[in-house]
Amino acid sequence: MMIKITLPDNSVHEYKKGISGYEIAKEISPRLAKEVLSVTVNDELWDLQRPITSDARIKLHKWEDEEGKHAFWHSSAHLLAEALESLYPGIKFGIGPSIDNGFYYDVDLGDDRVITDLDFPKIEKKMKELAQQKNEYRRREVSKNEALDYYTKKGDEYKVELISELEDGTITFYEHGNFTDLCRGPHLPDTGYIKAIKILNVAGAYWRGDENRKQLTRVYGITFPKQKMLDEYLVMLEEAKKRDHRKIGKELELFAFSQRVGQGLPLWLPKGAQLRERLENFLKKIQKIYGYDQVITPHIGLKELWVTSGHYEKYGKDSFQPITTPAEDEEFLLKPMNCPHHCEIYKTKQHSYKDLPVRYAEFGTVYRYEQSGELHGLTRVRGFTQDDAHIFCRPDQLKDEFKKVMDIIFIIFNAVDLKNYTAQVSLRDQNDHSKYIGTDKNWDKSESAILEVVKEKNLNFKVEYGEAAFYGPKLDFMVKDALGREWQLGTIQVDYNLPDRFDLEYIGSDNQKHRPVMIHRAPFGSMERFVAVLIEHTAGKFPLWLTPEQVVVMPISEKFNDYAKKVLNFLNNYDIRTIIDDRNEKIGKKIRDNELKRIPYLLIVGEKELNNESVSVRKQGEGDKGSMNLKDFAEFLNDEVKAQTEAHKIH
Ligand SMILES: [Zn+2]
Ligand SMILES: [Zn+2]
Repeated sequence: MMIKITLPDNSVHEYKKGISGYEIAKEISPRLAKEVLSVTVNDELWDLQRPITSDARIKLHKWEDEEGKHAFWHSSAHLLAEALESLYPGIKFGIGPSIDNGFYYDVDLGDDRVITDLDFPKIEKKMKELAQQKNEYRRREVSKNEALDYYTKKGDEYKVELISELEDGTITFYEHGNFTDLCRGPHLPDTGYIKAIKILNVAGAYWRGDENRKQLTRVYGITFPKQKMLDEYLVMLEEAKKRDHRKIGKELELFAFSQRVGQGLPLWLPKGAQLRERLENFLKKIQKIYGYDQVITPHIGLKELWVTSGHYEKYGKDSFQPITTPAEDEEFLLKPMNCPHHCEIYKTKQHSYKDLPVRYAEFGTVYRYEQSGELHGLTRVRGFTQDDAHIFCRPDQLKDEFKKVMDIIFIIFNAVDLKNYTAQVSLRDQNDHSKYIGTDKNWDKSESAILEVVKEKNLNFKVEYGEAAFYGPKLDFMVKDALGREWQLGTIQVDYNLPDRFDLEYIGSDNQKHRPVMIHRAPFGSMERFVAVLIEHTAGKFPLWLTPEQVVVMPISEKFNDYAKKVLNFLNNYDIRTIIDDRNEKIGKKIRDNELKRIPYLLIVGEKELNNESVSVRKQGEGDKGSMNLKDFAEFLNDEVKAQTEAHKIH
């Protein structure tokens, strides 16, 4: 009996019924077979060895794919559990998933045992020993009774609780070596794939995230198919620690938090505020060129506004609660979004098809309640400012507007030297159009417009079906930073919902009323998160145009303080942000200190410079650049700033 297998390139191949993903990979090429880790069969993630018994569409996953890593790390979680069970007999297990970087397992060690850093080498050693046995991961379907029976006998009440919530007929066990786990899979063929192992961390974690229940021990680890990959990862982790924006933000005096003000509410210090203002002014200038109008709206709005917009339903319960006033029944909400305010601005006058698109931009501060455990520096906060804008346009203008928004995003990325990015296009679930608001015709139009634009722009992109919001498709940019970590920045979102809810309209050429389409877009995303990403990407060495202090003048002795002041004034006249370091210190120490402050240009002035009206130039990270005439230096710097901020004008 033969079955038809369709590969991602739509080619169809015939294989014997019962062939596995692994065997198909082997038929394609022995090399591929060595690299594949899991397989998607008709939208379900499967083990490589599981027999495929009917016609199917499949996709093989390697390490480079999320699905491949998932199988690898999830299998590693099972290996960790096996090692822990052999080291700590009687241990009980909660859940053990793969995560973005590695995996964890929640365990109950019993009352008198703990795991600390000192135990990590022992656990790693055990895992390695077990991995080398190349034990197969075997999938087994079990009845609910059998599953309950197994864990009741074993005395693992956590698994019993999990199983009791599952439906009979859907339960599978995975077994390898001496370990059995309740699990959906998929897994690697055997433990031998896992070559490099590191236990990273332990933390407390409440069972099922409920603080009224028992606190378990969460053991974090990461594994790789090659030792070299682990070594590189550990170097990257070290570097990431050095670049932590919370640490650099403090050193450079950019921002701070105060327990008295409240968690997750950043305070921008003078240097940080200036930096942020420069970013904002830069974007404002570009937006002006692209036909945006700046608007300003309040931080709160009547609760009814948010009921109309639907945000109350979404954020109401889990976010900041309504603000009451002395007036009875009057309730305001801190705004979680700027969109409803902008819709109301749109409604202040009648629009003709000839006036569209209308583009309202605002650096709008919004407030969303995040659990305190979720807060993290500037990347997860409770109050943040979006570089928000809403475009109201006709359906036929959508493509052009998308293109323009993308141009703005590229100008930004270019100015901050984020050159490595891909786009993700989120479209409807092709099999179920019923869960989306707006007509099929409009959706088809907007989806194909987005796809055409990303193709025209020659972007590296991937399409995710079913990832669109119910109200419209969207485009996100995934940016890789200097350490290769991915950040989502720059979102463009089409919206058919809010124009409906707010009854927005324009008068068409047919003299009839029509609904405009709305586009939400934020190139930075939020100022807080963007600055955090920028700090970690640049390690605090911002591009010249953005950095708080561009130049420091360092006289080699007191005798040259006057000339240093002259240099400072001269550069200030060129709008170059300059400071003087006239401390009574050796020049070597001044150089070191100012390099630590990440000032891009260090100028040394002494006898020779005074006589020649020149400066001796050092560039951060590059060292001595020789002597330069003062005026030439100022113009050189201005050219560098121009090259960074005006690259878009070349087009
Ligand atoms: Zn599992
Ligand atoms: Zn919006």
